[in-house]
Amino acid sequence: MDGVFIRVEVAETARSDPELARRLEEACPVDIYAAGEAGVRIVDANLDECVLCELCLDAAPPGAVRVVKLYDEDAALER
Ligand code: SF4
Repeated sequence: MDGVFIRVEVAETARSDPELARRLEEACPVDIYAAGEAGVRIVDANLDECVLCELCLDAAPPGAVRVVKLYDEDAALER
């Protein structure tokens, strides 16, 4: 995980929601979320492309998604 500067967390209860997965996949400009039948998957290879735009937070219900800034003492973007 060398060089990865953020971590994305999707709440356990939200992870298996295919509709939320589709919204996250659409929202993220750098394809960090992939939607599948089983719900949302984080695309680790794209994590470093995150531009901290918060569009994923806008697309998700409160508490469902956190973007954790590993370079900033784990400060999190969340709603
Ligand atoms: S903050 Fe923006 S770029 Fe980062 S994961 Fe969310 S939607 Fe993608």
